Amino acid sequence: MTKYLAKIGLEMHCEVSETKTKVFSAARNEYSGSPNTNVRPLDMGFPGTLPVVNKEAVRLALMASIILNCKQPKYIYFERKNYYYPDMPKNFQITQETKPIPVGIYGEVTYECDDELKKVRVNNIHLEEDAASLDHFYDTSNIDYNRAGVPLLELVTEPDIHSAKEAVAFLEHMRSVYQYAGISEADSKKGQIRCDVNVSLMDASLDETDPNNWGTRAEIKNINSFGGVRDAINYEIERQTEILENGDEVLQETRRWDEESGTTIRMRSKVDAIDYKYFVEPNIPKYKVTKEWLDEIKASIPELAWNRKQKYINEYGLSSYDAGVLVKEKDISDYFEECVKLGIDVKQAANWVSVNIIGELNKEDILIKDFYLTPEMLKQIIDAVNKGILSSKQAKEVFNKAILEKKEPKNFISKDNAQISDKGELTKIVVEILDNNQEQIVQYKGGRDNIFDYFVGQVMKMTRGKANPVLTKEILHDELDKR
Ligand code: ADP
Ligand code: MG
Repeated sequence: MTKYLAKIGLEMHCEVSETKTKVFSAARNEYSGSPNTNVRPLDMGFPGTLPVVNKEAVRLALMASIILNCKQPKYIYFERKNYYYPDMPKNFQITQETKPIPVGIYGEVTYECDDELKKVRVNNIHLEEDAASLDHFYDTSNIDYNRAGVPLLELVTEPDIHSAKEAVAFLEHMRSVYQYAGISEADSKKGQIRCDVNVSLMDASLDETDPNNWGTRAEIKNINSFGGVRDAINYEIERQTEILENGDEVLQETRRWDEESGTTIRMRSKVDAIDYKYFVEPNIPKYKVTKEWLDEIKASIPELAWNRKQKYINEYGLSSYDAGVLVKEKDISDYFEECVKLGIDVKQAANWVSVNIIGELNKEDILIKDFYLTPEMLKQIIDAVNKGILSSKQAKEVFNKAILEKKEPKNFISKDNAQISDKGELTKIVVEILDNNQEQIVQYKGGRDNIFDYFVGQVMKMTRGKANPVLTKEILHDELDKR
């Protein structure tokens, strides 16, 4: 049996959500409202309308290009990709082909997969407009033009990815780049990320850097979740392996991922590929990209997840694993940084955020921005722990109560509940109890070890459970030894 190496190339589409308006019209850059309420004549392809390039969208696209170590163009051009489809009322999409250069070509991305660093070459990254969205029902389809013209970045990788796991790690890395750089929320639940996945198998004993050794690829279109990408790749590797094992040939074709059956389904052969008749968009003059502008954009790139992770490891002394958990989502990392800014001990903050808070977000399936407990409120709990007012068990209870009742933790923290951790105070209580239990002391000294627990119980009873248990036992041992 031949051993196969999977070659996977991704075309990752991510909407640029952080501009005010669409990429070529003045409509707001959002489409969550009622259908067809956020549409300008240009978005509908009305005759006589002209596109106006959104400079902020180009700036963010160039920022992505710089982060991906791509080569940037001297001029920005746009091109028409001509086709007819109801989600594309102009009958063409304004996009960028690789010639002339789009916002970036020939880059390289380093990402982590299972604690190993991997590299993927970027073929190109380009800026285009999103299409409208279609909702298909049993015998009718509804169309919503709100999404038409939302800025979209398409990133095309070389087939340097070798497994579903690597593909997902790469996509997670890119999501984090887009979020940290302030380019996009990159939320696949909102449909902001969609991928085409290209998969082929080659003989693993051959040199993978030589494209002549690559196998025939299948392209799976328009997968809208990372789980879908993972499953589609695994399915496709299995399907192609079977074909090759039977001595047959993999066909070059376009397939689609069918979530329900968990399979990919043939759409069309790649041989009769559509000719889009690309040409330079005549209504958008070419636009000079100056070195000054690029320098300015470069200087404005915010701290990315990778840098934050290094900071957490080197300055805060967190483990690589813990740091990784904290930086995975920018909003969570921001929350953690806010805690540190408020003066919460770094390790305590890291622990509370990565265990209790992330646990709660996962359990409730909510985002941290919708989470009731603010860093200030978390501080109330942690301060109370550090002052010995709350035991760690009580702290967790206060945490749960605060989020359940949506009331600040301080309402549930009172000095009356304070744990007694004062050695002098506890010693007094222990001595009093021992004085009143002479008979039990004799039994204990006579070898009945379990009487010790009886004494602990007496201390707890007297303090209504507030005695620090570790300290109580320590004092009991000392005082019993003296008798
Ligand atoms: P197309 O326009 O037909 O989609 P491209 O040349 O733009 O073709 O390639 C699209 C994607 O296919 C890229 O991500 C590329 O890395 C990937 N790709 C090309 N050849 C292979 C192959 N043999 N196996 C897997 N992926 C491939
Ligand atoms: Mg393609």
